[in-house]
Amino acid sequence: MGPPGAGKGTQAKRLAERFDMDHLSSGDIFRAEKDSGSQLGRKLGEYMSAGQLVPDETVVEVMAGAITRCTAAGGLLLDGFPRTVPQASALDEQLDKAGKPLDAVVVMTAEDDLIVKRITGRRTCGKCGKIYHLTFMPPRKDNVCDACGSELTQRADDTEQVVRERLETYYKQTEPVIAYYRDRDGLKVIDVDGGGEADDVLAEMVVEFDKLRANC
Ligand SMILES: [Zn+2]
Repeated sequence: MGPPGAGKGTQAKRLAERFDMDHLSSGDIFRAEKDSGSQLGRKLGEYMSAGQLVPDETVVEVMAGAITRCTAAGGLLLDGFPRTVPQASALDEQLDKAGKPLDAVVVMTAEDDLIVKRITGRRTCGKCGKIYHLTFMPPRKDNVCDACGSELTQRADDTEQVVRERLETYYKQTEPVIAYYRDRDGLKVIDVDGGGEADDVLAEMVVEFDKLRANC
């Protein structure tokens, strides 16, 4: 769990590779479902293109399908889900049914101002998809992709106003989910400061994951 820009997606991907877990990113799964052209995918597409939040029952339906398809030996790592308490309780039911209870919840945090700086500085190559950052990973030549020479663009919703709105939504919706998990006996909650260097943050999480695995 963590606000947009805390580095959740990047770290989840690296952790999943390292521990042989299926990485279930809700964003990726939604896009794949949408592109599949299924009835559920078309419904999702309507919400997404209108910039609306996808209703809990639709989110759960899509994610439950993805969870049942997981086979990795190391288990699964959910990224960007659940975002609301109703989603969390529906997830509990699904995992109970599958006999795969949650072992831990990782909570990443970062200062709002740092998040704004990280997200508003992002630039993407329209052609090859390489991602840059004006401050943290600038291209060699202004606004030009190092890899393919194409122009870099900023995503329309990577503006300060949109980021601050997304943060508000996150705090309002997702903090109660974190509280829901903290209240549960026997569930480990790992708190991580996502404000540091990505490699240091990863190293910190690897230590915690190693401990968890040793106890499994
Ligand atoms: Zn490029």
